[in-house]
Formats: sequence, structure tokens, C-alpha cells
Amino acid sequence: MAVRQYDKIPIVETARRCGLVLDSRTLRRTEVEASCPFCGDHGVGKHHLSLNTDTDQYRCNLCGAHGNSVSLYARIKGLSNKEAYLELAREAKVYPMPQAPSPQTQERQPVPLERRHAAYSDMLEHLTLLDRHGENLLERGLSEERIRANGYKSMPETERGRRLLADLLRSYGHELSGLPGFRTYYGEWTLSGPSGFLIPVRNKDGLIQGLKIRLDEVDAPNRKYRWLSSRGLPNGTRSYSWVHVTGDRSRKCAFLTEGPLKGDVASFLARDELFICIGGVNALHGLTDTIRALGVREVVEAMDMDQMTNPNVRKAVLAMRREVQKIPGIRYSKYTWNPAYKGVDDYLLSRAATM
Ligand SMILES: [Zn+2]
Repeated sequence: MAVRQYDKIPIVETARRCGLVLDSRTLRRTEVEASCPFCGDHGVGKHHLSLNTDTDQYRCNLCGAHGNSVSLYARIKGLSNKEAYLELAREAKVYPMPQAPSPQTQERQPVPLERRHAAYSDMLEHLTLLDRHGENLLERGLSEERIRANGYKSMPETERGRRLLADLLRSYGHELSGLPGFRTYYGEWTLSGPSGFLIPVRNKDGLIQGLKIRLDEVDAPNRKYRWLSSRGLPNGTRSYSWVHVTGDRSRKCAFLTEGPLKGDVASFLARDELFICIGGVNALHGLTDTIRALGVREVVEAMDMDQMTNPNVRKAVLAMRREVQKIPGIRYSKYTWNPAYKGVDDYLLSRAATM
């Protein structure tokens, strides 16, 4: 198959289609300046976003957001790059009224846990799991029953579906302001984020703290997962890197790993062992509180085997170890397995297959 030649998609025209405010004095220059929709320029009437008409790239000199026409459009509209490209390549050109970004000196914080849990639970109930996502989960070793119980669902495929979902949640009385993932697009509430499937991230009581997306289109091997977040978007809300708890919460020994889906799979394959999953080696907020609240006496580290080869990751893992070992009365050990298997889930799956 011939390689698809991407057409030139002018950055200034794309910015107009995104409704960005352009500084008219710079319109004839190579670098056109615009208000940054991601950081709001830390104040109204400023233009930190540079649009380079030669390279069709954008960059914010304040928050560092950067990319090309396709990724700008994708990020503003909450689409994948492919979806954004297809929309931009279409003939119909609609230019919304330019809307100055709201100053984001005070970043909107997520609503309390109980309200996030209530809204996300209703949301997941109204979404379906696409076949290709269900198959992906089965291949990891989960059963159909466990897939249903854990509540994985697919992101709505169309913009219309996303708006309907937002309307539905509002009709149920859920406030979308303060719910990570939701934002307004020219006054209308919608769900933002790339396509993929959603992974509920639950606290020690099983309440949904937030959602992670397993992306359909992966541009880098270490960027397969992203938090459902609408940070920096109109009326959007940031997410935090919440700690996920999965498995039998009455166990006195907990395994510690990175990534909620890895933990879900490993727990299922290891007959419901208790797993505590951090969002990343540098995202330790809430970890020791979770360990204390669960009342576990033993923590077994089960991070990916290749973790220790990267010096920065290694440093972070050692810091995490020290943090956990500070908890009084905790026994800490390291789970080791055949290094041919990268993650504890891969290892347990290989064992399950041979049993
Ligand atoms: Zn910016």
C-alpha cells in the first residue's frame, strides 16, 4: 500500500477552526501569535502561542504546549490525531467565533471522591465495551465475568455520542464542572479524550477515583495509557495520578505494581491477591495512606523487571521503597520472577497457560 501523503494543513487556518484568538498585528508575519488555549497565557489579552506558518507547528512560550495542525485540533476537540486529520482534511470549513481562553490562575480541582464515583458509575453503565477492546482484555488473561465486574468500557466513538453522554449525566443531576474528562465546547458539555477503553481506578473501598484510558493509537511504547482529564480545556478539570486498589481487600499482604490494568490482571490470575497500583514511579501521592488504611502488614514489590535498568526509574523505585518502609510494622520484600517476562501480569499469564 502506498504511504499516505499528508496534505499541508495550514496552522493559522487550523487555529481559526479551533476558535483561537489571533493577534491581528502579527497576521502577516511568519510567526503568528495567538492566545494559548492550554494555559490561558496566565491572563487575558496575551498571546504566548506562536504559530509558525512555514512549518505549520505551534508552540506556547509559557506552558510549552507544542505540535502541528493535526495535534492542535485533536487536543482542542478531544480527538485522536487520525480523527482530527480526517476532520481537517474535509472540505466543510466552519469557523467558530474566536473565544478568549479563560484565565487559569486557579486551576479547577476535581469534585470529591463520592461525587466522582457516582458520576463515573452512571457513565460506565451507559457505555458499552467494543468487541476489539473485550478481546484485548481476554488476551491479557481476564475472564468475561471479571471484565464485566471491573467495569471496563469503551470511549464513545463519535462526538455526538460524547455530547449525549454529557447531557445524560447532567439529566441525572451530576455536575460536570469538576469532573475530569468533561469540558465545554462553545458552551456545550462534552467528554474529552482519545479513543480507547476506560479502566476504572478504585480506592480501598472500591470507589472510582478516576479513569485511565488504554489508547487505541499508541504513538510511543511508554504512552499507552493516559488519565481521563480535561485539564486546560474550557471548563475542564485536571486529574490526579490516583492509586488503584484491586483484589481481596481483606488480605494482609499486598503486591505493589505500576498501572491499574496490570494490577487487575495480576490479581485475577493470582486468585484475587491484593494489588496496590501506582500511576507511575514518580506518582506516590496517596500510596502510604492507602497501605495504612488497608491495614496490610506485608508489601511485596512487583514492579516491571526492566525498571531497574533506567537510572531515573531506578532512583524513583528506591525512593518509593524507602517511603513504604517508613510505615511502622511493615514487612517489605521483592517479588522476583523469570526476567523473560517483563511484568508480573505477563509472568502470571504464562504460568496460568502452563498449569
Ligand atoms: Zn500555554
